[in-house]
Amino acid sequence: MVSSKSTTLTNGFTSERTHKRLVTGLRRKGITDETVLLAMASIQRDLFIEDALKSRAYEDIALPIGYRQTISQPFVVALMSQILRSNRDKLGRVLEVGTGSGYQAAVLSEFADRVYTIERIQQLFDAAKLRLAPLGIKNVSFRHGDGTSGWTVNAPFDGIILTAAPAVVPINLFDQLADGGILVAPEGEEQNQTLVYWKKTHGSLRRVESVPVVFVPMISGMIS
Ligand code: SAH
Repeated sequence: MVSSKSTTLTNGFTSERTHKRLVTGLRRKGITDETVLLAMASIQRDLFIEDALKSRAYEDIALPIGYRQTISQPFVVALMSQILRSNRDKLGRVLEVGTGSGYQAAVLSEFADRVYTIERIQQLFDAAKLRLAPLGIKNVSFRHGDGTSGWTVNAPFDGIILTAAPAVVPINLFDQLADGGILVAPEGEEQNQTLVYWKKTHGSLRRVESVPVVFVPMISGMIS
C-alpha cells in the first residue's frame, strides 16, 4: 500500500485534510465497498494533476490533463472500481483502456493482483509511467497502443475497464473477459453516455445499465 504524504496545496489547505473530506463525500454519495474507499484514501490524486490545478485535486470533478483529455471524477473512479470488484474476495488481472494520468490504474493497483493499462497518446503514456514509479507501485504494466483490440497475450482478464467512451464496446474485448469476469464502460455518443457493465457467466453475458456519465471518446489508432 502507498503511504500518504501531506502537501500544502496552493489554496492553503493540506492535501491530507481535503483528501479525507473527499473520501467521506464518496461514502455519502453511495460508495459502500470498503476496499475501494481504502484505495481512494491511499492514492493521492494531487500527484496526478498539474501544478496549476492541484488546489482542485480533491474536488469531486473531472480535470484536464492536457491533449484534450481528463482525469475522471473521483466518484466515477470509485463507482467503476466498486462495480469491477463486485465484492469479490480477490481481483486477479484487470485491463484498463485509457491510462490518461494513471490515477485509475493506481487505484486499481491497490486491490487487483495486476493491472494492464493501455494509452494511445505517447506523451500521456510516458507521463503516467513516470508518475507511478516513485509511488512504489509495481503491479501495473503499461502499453502504448490502441486499446480497442485489448491486450490478447495477457488475456483473459477478471475485469476490464474502459475509461474512454466507445459508441459501442468493441466485441473482441468480451472475448478477453474471463468467466466470472466483469467489463465496465461508459457507452454511447458524446453527451449521451451511460455507464454499463456486463458479467460473463458460463460464457454468456448479462448487461446492466448504471448512471449517465460524461467521458472523452474512445478513438481508434495511436499517436506517437
Ligand atoms: N483513466 C484515466 C482517464 C483517462 S481519459 C485517468 O485516471 O486519468 C481517457 C483516456 O483514454 C485518454 O488519455 C485517451 O487518450 C485514452 N484513449 C482513448 N481512446 C483510446 C484507445 N483506443 N486506446 C487507448 N487509449 C485510449
